[in-house]
Amino acid sequence: MEEFVKKIKSIALDYLLPDGFYYSLTGYCPCCDKEVKFQSYNSYLRNSFLCSNCSSIPRERALMFVIERYFSNWRNFYVHESSPSERGASIKLKRNVNKYVASQYFTDKPLGSYVNDCQNQDLENQTFDDESLDLVVTQDVMEHLYDPGKAFAEIARTLKKGGAHVFTVPIINRHKPTEIWAVKGEDNNPVFLKTPEWHENPVDLKGSPVTMHWGFDIVDFIKEKSGLNTTIEYLDMLEYGIRAELIEVFISIKE
Ligand SMILES: [Zn+2]
Repeated sequence: MEEFVKKIKSIALDYLLPDGFYYSLTGYCPCCDKEVKFQSYNSYLRNSFLCSNCSSIPRERALMFVIERYFSNWRNFYVHESSPSERGASIKLKRNVNKYVASQYFTDKPLGSYVNDCQNQDLENQTFDDESLDLVVTQDVMEHLYDPGKAFAEIARTLKKGGAHVFTVPIINRHKPTEIWAVKGEDNNPVFLKTPEWHENPVDLKGSPVTMHWGFDIVDFIKEKSGLNTTIEYLDMLEYGIRAELIEVFISIKE
């Protein structure tokens, strides 16, 4: 009997800890503004190191931390967030910002119209007025665009002077230049130039194709396409649950 219990316990443990990894500590969550426990059952912290209260992940906490550090008056801003998440920084921005517009891109609906509580916006061809926004936020969006240069230029056009695009994007090519991963084919379907990659998309069951493997030359690309100067913040702050792979935060300011 004792052997049997031992065996069941070990199977249960294997199930809970798939790669034998468990990490946990207490700290302050920049997304839900509470003392919380951060914990991960997987050594790939980027997707697994969750806040016990709001389920935010490290890149979301890093982005929110950067927004608060750079823009103490962010609550008074007019903010456009493209493809927001249902948790983390998106929720905090939505609840606290003076004027917050969330957008998604529905190819079959008129641009600028509302679908539920989201405005329909194509990042590459936006309906916002010139110099109308204080802050544009994108979280892991810029690796899914067919014409990211157009999107960066459009974001710059919509920003007021002194406004900023604050975003996360995985810099997959740590030691080599950016590579185009897919181009737009007929019927808006991707034509992959390399091994097909898709990421989850809450508004599209088939997911979002990965179109770009960005390198750190993204900073030069943004400058060339939009004129904006970009700073990269890489944060490692365990007391805020900010530790993971590929969680650089980019701040492109319109001067
Ligand atoms: Zn939290």
